[in-house]
Amino acid sequence: VKRAGGNACEFFETSMNQSAFERLVLENELREAVRDDQLVVFYQPKVSMVDGSIAGSEALVRWRHPTAGLLSPGAFIQAAEECGLIGEIGDWVLRRACHEAQQLRERGFDLPVAVNVSAMQFESEGFSQTVLEALQDSGLPPELLELELTESTAMREPERVIEQIEPLRRLGVTFAIDDFGTGHSSLSYLTRMPFDVFKIDQSFVRDMSQDEHARIVVETILAMAKSLKLKTVAEGVETHDQHQALRALGATLAQGYLFGRPMPFAELVSFASADGQD
Ligand code: C2E
Ligand code: CA
Ligand code: CA
Ligand code: CA
Repeated sequence: VKRAGGNACEFFETSMNQSAFERLVLENELREAVRDDQLVVFYQPKVSMVDGSIAGSEALVRWRHPTAGLLSPGAFIQAAEECGLIGEIGDWVLRRACHEAQQLRERGFDLPVAVNVSAMQFESEGFSQTVLEALQDSGLPPELLELELTESTAMREPERVIEQIEPLRRLGVTFAIDDFGTGHSSLSYLTRMPFDVFKIDQSFVRDMSQDEHARIVVETILAMAKSLKLKTVAEGVETHDQHQALRALGATLAQGYLFGRPMPFAELVSFASADGQD
């Protein structure tokens, strides 16, 4: 269980073991969390491979649990999916991210924000409408919103995904395939999917220096992106060596602890401001 502070780890570990009672407690607490504003959105910067300047951010949800401290999504996203709260949480994150990206704009930074969309949320009835409302209510231009779907979500029902994505894309919203390389995409479908960005899964970035196969996967994804004229984000970049190797291979953007950890909105504003000055 991933945990970002506090001392209730045991509790959450037990709940992940599917003890029905504890799961029920977690679900109830999660409902409370949504109701009582215990969820927060952190932002992790994405930087340009060319000059290291900030090129956007990814919104990542956190839970300020009253006793357990700050919890990472690994501790509750699955439970949220299983008890049907993921739609509500996802919609809240989407609205919040659009609102804060617009606030960043009002401070002079026109930076795109990427929001993770779960399969259940994406496949729900009113999803496109929710996106439209989040854009309208915040005033954020659609061009500054990117939606990340995992490769497995994107490939579940490709035809339906295309149908759902196209109208939003025509508005200017961009779409990224998250955790790319970990799924089982059909190559012929992939080349027809209306995506703008491939996000190379961090496992390949981590292993590429020791593992020939990982390096080949990274090179193949970058070559494919190039011929499809898509952008690429290398995730989980932690070392200068990884950064150099990915830059040499032509990745567009990098994201990882080397550049910045997920941080509260106020820190993202400082990060963007400091970036503008050097
Ligand atoms: P993801 O979308 O693949 O997000 C990247 C994860 O990698 C984040 O974990 C981030 O903190 C972590 N990370 C970033 N840079 C590095 C690095 O250099 N090294 C390492 N080891 N890790 C790095 P986080 O925030 O714990 O999120 C985990 C997953 O939870 C996300 O994976 C995403 O699938 C899901 N998630 C987060 N927020 C949301 C949300 O609002 N909605 C939905 N549906 N899922 C979310
Ligand atoms: Ca993501
Ligand atoms: Ca990812
Ligand atoms: Ca992941």
